[in-house]
This record gives sequence, structure tokens and C-alpha cells, in this order.
Amino acid sequence: NTPLHELDPDVAAAVDAELRRQQSTLEMIASENFAPLAVMEAQGSVLTNKYAEGYPGRRYYGGCEHVDVVEQIAIDRVKALFGAEHANVQPHSGAQANAAAMFALLQPGDTIMGLNLAHGGHLTHGMKINFSGKLYDVVAYHVGDDGLVDMAEVERLAREHRPKLIVAGWSAYPRRLDFAAFRKVADEVGAHLMVDMAHFAGLVAAGLHPNPVPHAHVVTTTTHKTLGGPRGGVILSTADLAKKINSAVFPGQQGGPLEHVIAAKAVAFKVAASEDFKERQRRTLEGARILAERLVRDDVKAAGVSVLTGGTDVHLVLVDLRDSELDGRQAEDRLHEIGITVNRNAVPNDPRPPMVTSGLRIGTPALATRGFTAEDFAEVADVIAEALKPSYDAAALGARVKALADKHPLYAGPDK
Ligand code: PLP
Repeated sequence: NTPLHELDPDVAAAVDAELRRQQSTLEMIASENFAPLAVMEAQGSVLTNKYAEGYPGRRYYGGCEHVDVVEQIAIDRVKALFGAEHANVQPHSGAQANAAAMFALLQPGDTIMGLNLAHGGHLTHGMKINFSGKLYDVVAYHVGDDGLVDMAEVERLAREHRPKLIVAGWSAYPRRLDFAAFRKVADEVGAHLMVDMAHFAGLVAAGLHPNPVPHAHVVTTTTHKTLGGPRGGVILSTADLAKKINSAVFPGQQGGPLEHVIAAKAVAFKVAASEDFKERQRRTLEGARILAERLVRDDVKAAGVSVLTGGTDVHLVLVDLRDSELDGRQAEDRLHEIGITVNRNAVPNDPRPPMVTSGLRIGTPALATRGFTAEDFAEVADVIAEALKPSYDAAALGARVKALADKHPLYAGPDK
């Protein structure tokens, strides 16, 4: 029972340093968030010791009476949260949820459609060297010149290629998708519709974004982005697909479920049903809107900086640096230098190489969790705008970042 600091000071020091990094910088990676202490407590519990292959009430191991309770709570809560007929809470990650959902609905060699990676899609939506690109015949759709998903192209490609599955969802897209329109196309060509709501699930849970569940055959998500829980995945589906989905997860893709993570997911689903969570998602959206507004001002435009689609309806803003002397990597490094963490991101038809890019993806979920108000988001937006101009005062901007971090302490409760 030796504590971590004594047993393994090397690992403990890195964990401590990571806590200090999270506390002292502003986290604006759109896919990140801060899990509540109760979520981390569940994830760090003795449930990590338990094998539980199978599902609640039908396990291949003895001694599952308590993990059965936990997993059933998680299933019931996530079904209620999103209004789904069936839920599988075992996928270890978003990528595994997508792999299992595709495994349930497709045969190798079948045709799928997904949003092109460079246009905002995810690796698992058909990227060439991902399992999805290797196992299936991929027809990618794109965004048009206005930065919006081109539904006319989706319709045309679907009629031409008759996919078995259409994937709607994104990792870098600042607007809402029309799920009903996707379903109409899917129905017309006899395809299943899968919506990957990994990024916007928290907004859906709060009722601040259209819910894909009534429109899709299958909805996948991660639990750690806007949803603010432990790292993991979930698959929701209609009741008729329940058996296929469950057997695609186990034994199709995975062995023993991570019951400690499932317990943490259950806690996160409880939090996501609360008024506090809704209020936090409202600030998340407001923060992104404020950020977009302040990055389209004339003084910022003069530096060649703009915002894709001119704004946002979600928790992130895509900064377009195609006309800027700064490339995505330099912009990411500049913000890092002053204590703001973001990731560079390709923009559609990016003239710069993928390791460099001409864009930034900036998200507000983690700062909203930290308690940022509209006023704080305006300040951080102004700091970012200044940092992207040709000349900038790193020390002064760094001090403003530090003041914001100090104003909103993170994990500063009695036991931290
Ligand atoms: N789906 C989407 C839309 C994502 O953005 C991501 C992660 O970035 C994933 C799936 C994969 O999730 P994970 O990293 O948990 O495998």
C-alpha cells in the first residue's frame, strides 16, 4: 500500500508537473476538458481489478454483482440523457466505438461515406491508413467554398456509390449538421446513418444542440470532450440493432470492459443531467461565439487572420491563417509561449503541408468548466488576437494569461 510518490517518484513527478501545467495554462484544445474529482475517484477505484467479459446479468466471470450494478446505472443514465433505445458503454475510446459500430453494420469491402479528414472529419470516418480506410471502400464528402458541408454533394455521391453506411460527424467543424437531411439521403439509398457526436455530445445533453438520436440508426460518442467525463466511448442505437452492436463490441472488438471507467462514465452522465452542467455548456457556447466575434475584427483581419464560416454555432472556432504570414505551427507555438494551449489544424484546401497547416482549432469547453465568464472569454479572445498580429508582446500577454488562470483555480479543492 505504498503511495505513488514513494513507490514511483519518477511517475509521480510527471503527474504532479502535468497538474501544474493544467492549472497554470489556459487549455483551449477543443476536444479536452477537466473531469470532476468524483469522476477521477471512480476511475481510480478498485473496479480496475475486475474482469467482467459479457454484459450485466450475462457475464463470463464470477463476482460481477457489483460491477453489474455500475454498468447498468451507466447504461440507464446515458439512454435517458440522449433518449436512446439502446446503449453500450463498454468501448474503450471513441475510435473503438466507431470500429465496433462499423463492425456491426458492415462487411469488409462495403462502401462507406464520411467527411474528408482535411475538411473536418475524423480518422475513423475513412482515412486511408485508419482501419476504416483499410477495411472499407471510402467515398469522402467535403465542405463547399462557404465552409459548410455540401449536402448536394452528399446526395450525389450517395446515389452514385450506394454506400452501406453514411457517417455524419466531425472533429473540426464550427456549425451544425442537418441530421434529418442525412437520414433522408441514407433512406433513399438503403444505407444506415451513423452520427459521431463525440465533439458536441455535451451540447446535446444540455439541449443546446440538435439531438442526432431520433434521426440516426447508430450514434457514437466519446465521453471526455464536451461531455466532460473520463476518456472513453459509448454507442447508442435503435433497439433492433442492440444485439449486433453488443456482439460487435464484445467479443467482436474488445475483451474485458474497463469497469472503473464505466463507473466514471456513470458519474459523468449524472453530472451531465444537472442544471450546473447546462449552465456550463451555455458558457461554452457563449465563449466560442465571443472568441469568433473578436477574431473577425478589422485589426485582426489586417494581419490576414479570419474565422472559417465567419463564426460558430458550437464549442470551437476554426481560425484561418491562409492569408497570414504565420502558419498553423507558428501560431500554435506563439500561443503556447504565452500559456494558451491549442492545436494547429488543416483548413479545407490547405496550401501548407499537414504537419504545418494554415489553421488553428480553438475550443472553450475546458475554460467553461474552469468557470470562465463572458468577460473572461472576451479577455482571452483579445489576448489571442494580439498574439496573432505581426508584432506582439509575449511578456505582457503571458501576464494576462496568468491573471486569468489565477482568477479560476483548477482542482484547488481541499484534497488537492
Ligand atoms: N470521433 C470524433 C469525431 C473525434 O473527434 C474523436 C477524437 O478526437 C474520436 C472519434 C476518437 O476518440 P478517441 O480519441 O477516444 O479514440
